[in-house]
Amino acid sequence: MAIKKVWIEEGCTACEMCVDICPDVFEMGDDEAVVKQGVNYDDHASEIEEAADSCPVEVIQYE
Ligand code: SF4
Repeated sequence: MAIKKVWIEEGCTACEMCVDICPDVFEMGDDEAVVKQGVNYDDHASEIEEAADSCPVEVIQYE
């Protein structure tokens, strides 16, 4: 399955885990992580899946 969309639901605790795992897709905003735009997410599919699995509050979604 190709990943076309990545988003973060409410509840990010700004632990920075996703940024550590996949800095090409995630970055820290003012007080929570944000998804970078203009990225070919499918090039980073395994890291996105790992970040979603590793997020302690499970707010990373993708499809
Ligand atoms: S891993 Fe989850 S809680 Fe941590 S910064 Fe990323 S989205 Fe937020």
